[in-house]
Amino acid sequence: MSEGLLARAQARIPGGVNSPVRSFASVGGDPFFVARGEGPFLVDTDGVRYLDYVQSWGASILGHAHPAIVEAVQRAAAAGTSYGAPTPGEVALAESVAARVPSVEKLRLVSSGTEAAMTAVRLVRGVTGRPKILKFAGCYHGHLDALLVAAGSGVATLGLPGSAGVTPGAIADTVVVPFNDEAALDAAFAAHGAELAAVLVEPVAANMGLVAPRPGFLAGLRRRCDHADALLVFDEVITGFRVGVAGAQGRVGVTPDLSLFGKVLGGGLPLAALGGPAALLDELAPVGPVYQAGTLAGNPLATAAGLACLELLDAGAYDELEARVELLGRGITDAVTSTGLAAQVPRVWTLSGLFFAAEPVVDYAGAQAADAKRYARFFQAMLARGVFLPPSPFETWFTSLAHREADIERTVQAAGEAAQEVVGAD
Ligand SMILES: *Cc1c(COP(=O)(O)O)cnc(C)c1O
Repeated sequence: MSEGLLARAQARIPGGVNSPVRSFASVGGDPFFVARGEGPFLVDTDGVRYLDYVQSWGASILGHAHPAIVEAVQRAAAAGTSYGAPTPGEVALAESVAARVPSVEKLRLVSSGTEAAMTAVRLVRGVTGRPKILKFAGCYHGHLDALLVAAGSGVATLGLPGSAGVTPGAIADTVVVPFNDEAALDAAFAAHGAELAAVLVEPVAANMGLVAPRPGFLAGLRRRCDHADALLVFDEVITGFRVGVAGAQGRVGVTPDLSLFGKVLGGGLPLAALGGPAALLDELAPVGPVYQAGTLAGNPLATAAGLACLELLDAGAYDELEARVELLGRGITDAVTSTGLAAQVPRVWTLSGLFFAAEPVVDYAGAQAADAKRYARFFQAMLARGVFLPPSPFETWFTSLAHREADIERTVQAAGEAAQEVVGAD
């Protein structure tokens, strides 16, 4: 059944997938087609069940088909799916985010993280009158031209330097610096500080595998931005509402000027946002001169799902998820390293990952130097045991609140066997 679907998909959709990260290009084999999701599980069109650590790349923090989300979406759909006029749901969601994240007074809702980043780039340029944007190698901010340089996620997975179709002009004002490298940052600020509109950063880098910021790195960024009169933008599309009530900024105590949200925010529906101080957000149309718009922005199904999701995400939920991920991280570390394989299992609060590397990975160069072949073998061995990991070493593992301790134990058990297979294949 899946094979027939794959052929049909490949005939009509490039590569058979609508986002390159869904292909198994870097791990080999063909993607399965999902028939349905249930909590921590996916069930494919052949009826095979997988314990899922992709979870819509982090969007489904409650697990699949959570009753609260299903009910909220059904109720919203019965009242119409899109109007092109304001709704109470948009207001409630914006209030809910502002109540959670102190740096956010106002938000503009959009439909994807890419749009949020694109709007942020225009906004920071419009407000400062400066052209340049500083980003970090291996960080991913969506597929807008200016930020596809040295990008993580699928760009890293496919080993692309960037993308065809991006003109030198589109990236001429993008400055790229290695993550966690304060000396390179100082050099970049010395060379471009006066022209810098903003620094964009994933406060926890989660699109080159998982890479934690060094202690003080984000506070140092804040200091340098203030000194140069540049804005600091945290791309919390993954970390927002995933690592704590107020995202990564709440956990590290560094306040950005602008924040980007997505993934968890929409409860599994297409929704993202940029948020910050009222004075900054009011530079957007129709109040200010920076134009931005969207037919489906703040869509009523998406805001209903997002609200239902946020309502369940109190501090206790994050504690529970963090405990679960700690169990997973410890278990995977033991299972893999006890076979003698060199492995790093980064864990940052509720996020975890896996690099087959001898040393801790602190930047994109380190992530690229990790053993991708071993990861591919490990991925396949886990898949054969009914555990679906991200099909790329340049991604983060997403545990949901629906993953129970028994699911983690099963994962760790499978990891021990999978690691043995990797050793055998070396
Ligand atoms: C996923 C992601 C984006 C892009 O979001 P889309 O909704 O896929 O466009 C941007 N930034 C980060 C950090 C992401 O992980």
